[in-house]
Amino acid sequence: MNTFLLEIVTPERIVFSEQVESLSVRGEEGELGILAGHVPLVTPLKVAPISVKSGNTRATLAVHGGFLEVQKDKVILLAEGAERSTDIDVERAKAARERAERRLNSQGNRDLVDHRRAELALQRAVTRINVSSHSKE
Ligand code: ATP
Repeated sequence: MNTFLLEIVTPERIVFSEQVESLSVRGEEGELGILAGHVPLVTPLKVAPISVKSGNTRATLAVHGGFLEVQKDKVILLAEGAERSTDIDVERAKAARERAERRLNSQGNRDLVDHRRAELALQRAVTRINVSSHSKE
């Protein structure tokens, strides 16, 4: 099967740079599957797990929003944050999930910006927990 270079980059580091056969992401407009030779495009991404396949190996990574850019010869995923499943500290993510849930449930908190921030923190934490559970399958 044909492969393409996938680079996953955050403001902090290069998280992933490998030849892969397919990539599956959750875009703002729905699920998107990419194979070699896909038409060039740019699309915003949700906070969600992504899946990468190469030969018999399938990897799941946590991607915390950003953009996917399909170029002619490679695919760049410019993420606000991203982690490989093996780099995720699941206890930290569970603590972050609890903090975010507490903030969302607190009656006094009517500030929209705080609410949105807590929602995003919850999405990041849940994504990390889900990705981490994949790595133990
Ligand atoms: P926390 O409240 O635990 O810091 P957060 O969602 O606010 O979580 P981010 O601001 O998204 O954290 O990330 C800050 C840095 O910490 C990034 O480099 C990110 O990859 C890393 N990070 C955050 N949570 C985890 C985790 N559970 N396991 C591994 N790395 C993490």
